[in-house]
Amino acid sequence: MSCFKVCFKSGGARTGRLSTAHGKINTPFFMPVATKGAVKNIIHSDLKKMGFECLISNAFINYLNPGLSLIDSAMGLHKFMSWDKALFTDSGGFQLILDHFSPKINDAGVSMINPFNKSRELISPEKSISIQNSLGSDVAMCLDHQPIFGKSRVDYLESTIRTIEWAKRCIVFHNSNENKINPNQLLFGIVQGGNHIDLRKKCALALLQLGFDGVALGGFGIGEAQNDMFNIIKQTKKVLPENNCTYVMGIGSPLEILNCVSVGVDCFDSAYPTRMARHGLIFTSVGNIQIDKSINKNSFLPLDDSCDCFVCKTYSRAYLHHLFKTHEQNAHILLSYHNIYFIQNLIKNIRVSIKENNFNIFKKEFELKYIKKF
Ligand SMILES: [Zn+2]
Repeated sequence: MSCFKVCFKSGGARTGRLSTAHGKINTPFFMPVATKGAVKNIIHSDLKKMGFECLISNAFINYLNPGLSLIDSAMGLHKFMSWDKALFTDSGGFQLILDHFSPKINDAGVSMINPFNKSRELISPEKSISIQNSLGSDVAMCLDHQPIFGKSRVDYLESTIRTIEWAKRCIVFHNSNENKINPNQLLFGIVQGGNHIDLRKKCALALLQLGFDGVALGGFGIGEAQNDMFNIIKQTKKVLPENNCTYVMGIGSPLEILNCVSVGVDCFDSAYPTRMARHGLIFTSVGNIQIDKSINKNSFLPLDDSCDCFVCKTYSRAYLHHLFKTHEQNAHILLSYHNIYFIQNLIKNIRVSIKENNFNIFKKEFELKYIKKF
């Protein structure tokens, strides 16, 4: 039985439910990024109050530090981080290719330098799944080979073939390894192929044949043009069955979310809202503002007068500008809270508009107000 069920449709958008061992997740949904087990500057209880039903952590980063033996002693990542709702883990395939780890990629896996003990070790597809089994996340992600943006078609072809081969090894290992922490852990494959639609479709079809619980799209947010990205998603969606929970990895700006939802994307994750907050870029219903600009110095308006988050109800732009300019930690806490609340509110409104078969009008009205500012 599929873990995902579509509930309502409006144009190309849909709502649905993803069933996991830690509860059902209403889709479309956005996962705040808890790379090391925490969302930067926001505590779990606040995320729950906002209605987030799922977080995503990073298997590779947790494996490096604090390490599996400590998380094993805690009986898995949910218990270690005291999060009782759904949890995805990314394999860390994206982090592994960063120069920081001096990666060498071949068919066996990714060999990298462990920054803690300086030894070179191999993260193979099997090893990546074994780590995620130990963490006990509700949805594990395959180790994939994501090429650096702008490579040649030959490079993309090679990485697509490798991604499919690794996906086969991931699913074989996942199905044969005893998962003591979360026996009902789901496994998603990841479509690669860059901007080459034929490679994307071939990769998606190959993954579907392997019988994953879901097929995600990776390799975005690394420099490609937005129109290319939406076109790839749209075209790849054509070969995915309706009951595939479609997760586009690394997307998190308001307009990108709206555009992706319009072509049937169900699941998002990104550090963008909290990272932008730390840089003073604030989402508002009438466009983004930069809190450190002098125009906010004497403004006693809220960040967004359409937002009912506690930051907007309590503090002025002038106060937040002051905190930000004086490098007070509370600036990051309050601004991150607002940005992530804004995204969750957008997602909730998207779901309502789909249920009321009103998504396209909602999208148009949101964009009209949001883009007007620029
Ligand atoms: Zn707010």
